[in-house]
Amino acid sequence: MGYLIDPKETIEVLNRYRFVFQKRFGQNFLIDSHVLDKMIAAAHITKDDLVLEIGPGIGTMTQALCENAREVVAVEIDPNLIPILNCDTLSAYDNVTVINEDVLKLDIEALVKEKNGDRPIKVVANLPYYVTTPIIMRLLESDIPVESITIMVQAEVADRMQAGPGTKDYGALSLAVQYYAEPFIVANVPQNCFMPRPNVASAVIRLTLHKEPPVDVRDEKLMFRLIRASFNHRRKTLVNSLMNEMGQELSKQRVLDALSALGLKETARGEEFDLAGWAAFTNKITELGK
Ligand code: SAM
Repeated sequence: MGYLIDPKETIEVLNRYRFVFQKRFGQNFLIDSHVLDKMIAAAHITKDDLVLEIGPGIGTMTQALCENAREVVAVEIDPNLIPILNCDTLSAYDNVTVINEDVLKLDIEALVKEKNGDRPIKVVANLPYYVTTPIIMRLLESDIPVESITIMVQAEVADRMQAGPGTKDYGALSLAVQYYAEPFIVANVPQNCFMPRPNVASAVIRLTLHKEPPVDVRDEKLMFRLIRASFNHRRKTLVNSLMNEMGQELSKQRVLDALSALGLKETARGEEFDLAGWAAFTNKITELGK
C-alpha cells in the first residue's frame, strides 16, 4: 500500500469505496506531501505522544501521525469513512483507534484520562471549516490537558487568531485564542493542495498552550463578555458599545470611572486594548462593582 498523500492513491481509494464527498461535513482531503510534512514537523510529535486527530477523512494525515506518535485517536463523524479507515488505509497500524462520532459531542476529557492519565496530548487536524471556532474553543476552554493544537484552517481565520491591536483582523477570536495559547502561522496553503478544491485559501497554525494565563484577570467570564460586547460594535466607543449590549447590568458611570482610573479617555475603543489592557479594564469594572 502506498501513502495516500499521493493523489493517485487517494483517487484509487475513493473509487474503490465509491466514496461520495459530503459538503456538509467540510470534506476537502489533503493531497500535497510538502504541506503534510510541514504540518507534522510543526506539531513536534514524538513517540511519547498521544495525538488526537479530528476528522481523519480517508486517513492521509493519520498514517503520518501513526508513524510518528505513540498512539493516535482519530474522531470522524462520517460513517462512510469508517470501513475505509479500519479495513484499508489504517489496517497496517496497531497504534490507532478510530471513533465514529461528532467531536463536539465526544467526552474528550474521559478519553484522554483513560489513554494518557494527566499527561497533555497534542491535537492535529485538517479541520472542517464549518465548525472550526467551536472545536478550537472547546479545546481551549475545557480542562482537557492539551500541549499544542496544530491545525489547518481558513487563512482568514488563522490571521484573526494571530492578529494584534490596531489591525483589521483583531477581534474577540484573537483575544480568546491568545489568552489560552501562543499562535504561530506555520504555512499558507493554496486551494490546489486539496481534493476537492475548497473555495478559500487555507493556513496551518500552531497554538502552543500557555502553562499559566499571560494576564491576571479576576473574572475571566466577564472579560470575554466585555470583549464580545465591544467587538460587536467595533466602530463605537467602548462606553457606547457596552451600554448597548450590557446596559442592564453596567452603569455608564462605572465604565467611565474604570476608564478614568486607568488613565484612558472616554472615547477609548475596545479594539485599541491588548490582552493586558482588557484584563486591567475588567479588573477595574469588577472592583468598582463591589
Ligand atoms: N484529515 C483529512 C485530510 O487531511 O485529508 C480530512 C480533512 S477534511 C477537511 C475534514 C474531516 O472532518 C472530514 O473527514 C469530515 O468528515 C470530518 N468532520 C466534519 N465534521 C466533523 C465533526 N463534527 N466531528 C468529527 N469529524 C468531522
